[in-house]
Amino acid sequence: MRLILLGPPGAGKGTQAQRIVETHGIPQLSTGDMLRAAVAAQTEVGKRAKAVMDAGKLVSDEIVIAIVSERIDQPDCANGFILDGFPRTLVQADATEQMLAAKGLDLPTVIELKVDDEVLTERIAGRYTCANCGTGYHDDNLKPKVEGVCDKCGSTHFKRRPDDNRDTVVARLQTYYKETSPLIGYYYAKGKLQSVDGMADIDTVTADIEKILAKL
Ligand SMILES: [Zn+2]
Repeated sequence: MRLILLGPPGAGKGTQAQRIVETHGIPQLSTGDMLRAAVAAQTEVGKRAKAVMDAGKLVSDEIVIAIVSERIDQPDCANGFILDGFPRTLVQADATEQMLAAKGLDLPTVIELKVDDEVLTERIAGRYTCANCGTGYHDDNLKPKVEGVCDKCGSTHFKRRPDDNRDTVVARLQTYYKETSPLIGYYYAKGKLQSVDGMADIDTVTADIEKILAKL
């Protein structure tokens, strides 16, 4: 079971990936984690990545692909894996396909979490948490019972993540549509795309994904 989860930031990819990991026992591979691990293990490509990062530069696609390639050769990936946040561009998708083909592996199944941009923006931009106990709230649909007082602990201090504001969310969506959304057409044309409604509640999205996985 080789999977790629596709969808804009805030669509719930992380939550769903975690559930797939728990249900199916396949690892979730994030490029950030793999990069750090390769550097720490001082693999050949890890050393190259470290040299690039030490110079303050961005690690090239070629190095990232090499790191992904090394990682999926490890025994815990024998039954599959979930690629998290990668590939992000058409160039990376093409390189990933070639890398897998060289190992005799078919393309992963791509699960797209479809979202409504406006609803997603409201959902992210309105969220905040209790500064004391971390309970999550939302400006529109999850307010504390008493305004300004945390239901759980009674604290009157709340906080918002600095990147959970409308402008930042819109900018992240634009980057996604520019760089990553072309992958939807790319994988559709290869017969590898499956879509689920990412705006449904979390358990419904999980159930919809499981229906797709059951057919693989
Ligand atoms: Zn609280």
